[in-house]
Amino acid sequence: MTGVIRFWPTLLRLSCAQSFTAALAVALLLAMLGQSKAADPTAKRILMLHSFGPRFKPWSDYEQAIRSEISRRWQKRVEFLDQSLVNAGDGENPEPAFVDYLRALYARRPIDLIVAIGAPAADFIQRHRQQLFPTTPMVFTAVEQRRVQSEKLTENDTVVAVAHDFPAAFDNILRVLPLTQTIAVVNGASPNEKFWLKEMRRELAPLTRRIELRWYDELSFEDILLEAARLPPHSAIFWHLMNVDAAGVSHEANDALNKLSSSANAPVFSYDGSFFGEAIVGGPMHSVQQLSQSTADVAVRILNGEKPGDIKTPPSPFAAPIFDWRQLQRWGISDSNLPAGSTLYFRELTGWERYSWQIALTAAVILAQAAFISALLHANRRRQFAEMQSRERLTELARVVRFSTAGELTASIAHEINQPLGAILANAETAEAILQSSNPDIAELNDIVKDILQDDRRASEVIRRMRSLLAKAPFELKRLDLNDLVGDTVGLLSALAVARKCELFTVTAAEALPILGDRIQLQQVILNLIVNGIDAMQDTTRENRIISIRTSRLEDFAELSVSDLGPGIPEEKVKEIFEPFFTSKAGGMGMGLSIARTIIEAHHGLILARNRDHGGASFRIKLPLVR
Ligand code: ADP
Repeated sequence: MTGVIRFWPTLLRLSCAQSFTAALAVALLLAMLGQSKAADPTAKRILMLHSFGPRFKPWSDYEQAIRSEISRRWQKRVEFLDQSLVNAGDGENPEPAFVDYLRALYARRPIDLIVAIGAPAADFIQRHRQQLFPTTPMVFTAVEQRRVQSEKLTENDTVVAVAHDFPAAFDNILRVLPLTQTIAVVNGASPNEKFWLKEMRRELAPLTRRIELRWYDELSFEDILLEAARLPPHSAIFWHLMNVDAAGVSHEANDALNKLSSSANAPVFSYDGSFFGEAIVGGPMHSVQQLSQSTADVAVRILNGEKPGDIKTPPSPFAAPIFDWRQLQRWGISDSNLPAGSTLYFRELTGWERYSWQIALTAAVILAQAAFISALLHANRRRQFAEMQSRERLTELARVVRFSTAGELTASIAHEINQPLGAILANAETAEAILQSSNPDIAELNDIVKDILQDDRRASEVIRRMRSLLAKAPFELKRLDLNDLVGDTVGLLSALAVARKCELFTVTAAEALPILGDRIQLQQVILNLIVNGIDAMQDTTRENRIISIRTSRLEDFAELSVSDLGPGIPEEKVKEIFEPFFTSKAGGMGMGLSIARTIIEAHHGLILARNRDHGGASFRIKLPLVR
């Protein structure tokens, strides 16, 4: 494997050997000044050797974590010194100058431990071990086992390596997105990246029977972005490394990865935990934390005097799978596709998780309120049911009373029907006689037939009224004209009035009196009042037995008054007459007025009784008018 530094002059910003020498002199001076100031003879000196530069992923993450782990475990003073291979490459063959620089820098005060981070660092140090630090203990870390030349390891070296498993990383993609048909592999073109390109191609070859693999190692990063934005449906991207692209441009930290993730039309996967946290969907990958802990462990053992060559650490495989919840949401990946033992990171708390007690409290209040409302509704329903039941009972009772009134009416109704029937018979006989004559008078026959029809209608009308009065109908509010209702009811009673030598004197309002009411029940009330008036005048010696029935409009009410010229109601009884079973009649039930009041109140109206100034009783009903 060739030294990484010689290949990548573009990494270097120093332009020539002279400037490098000048920089070296300045660095040495600064280093010596620094050492004289901060020198602590008890402090352990650890050289952290970075592969590209201190900010290149993935190594930068490992370096930081290892440094803080060592500090935490080695509780005495420790001094970290940083060197990056990026400083070494310039001109034709800059490595010897860089090696000289390092030797000069650390000659006065030797290093206690070298931590070489990443494969390029491991490679560099293995090549220059003898010139540089032949006996200094060294830990190779954050390096894949294949990148360590084990035959060159000395007794002062130990390795904390990882083991890449590309098939496992790709299996994860296919498990999470089973419909995947294309996977684009993002990889740079540095020697280290090229090494891995070959390895991946080899290890992933069996996969090409199932899916298409696209390799982006020969594209500039700009072109990679363009390609990644127009991948076919069911594609994924595998982010391996992008330290230096094919155009020779270096990419330090996560910027490139984030750019790729935001412009790509497919989800991005990786193999290393240092890339996880923003742009990567997830899967089994190396854990920065675990590897850094093992490295720090080894480092501390060496600082305590253990021989590096005696410390054997098996390479770390991928850690348990981890996934980024936000990326799963972005690409619509279901949790159920994740392998067993996966850990989900960055999951946004649901409203419930964030505000659980507030929601619980609100729910409790709402529940209590709902229970209260339902109790009220229940009570209301019970009340409505009770009302309905009492209304039904009233309807039944009212019907019983109507039957008794109807009983009273029987004689007069029979008379009322007999009259037209008698007239019909007489007319029919006359018609028969005319028809038997030699020259029947057709015009007269015509008149007779008209009379017959008229009488028939009269009889039918009487029967209709009676039937409707006795009909068994539920309480039903309809729009009615109080004038019509009064006219109809008076019609029912006219025969009775004649029979009882009373005169029904009706005066209805000129305008219509629209009300909402149950026809039969209101008719019953009117009937009851008129019959009571007729009854009251039964024993009177008066000549003029008049019952005056009047309707009128008073503001928003329709009024009906029924007044007689009877003896009136004894003053002390005026309030009692509406009570059930109050009667002064021998065969009375005492239910008529009580039912009348219930009916009128059910119509949101009012019924009143009083004695007239010049004798007789007067009953008044007020019912609300409707528009
Ligand atoms: P009933 O007619 O079966 O007695 P009501 O409830 O209709 O039952 O009447 C109750 C009582 O009110 C009557 O018995 C009577 O004493 C009194 N009353 C009702 N109307 C009149 C009236 N126009 N004049 C005098 N008293 C009346």
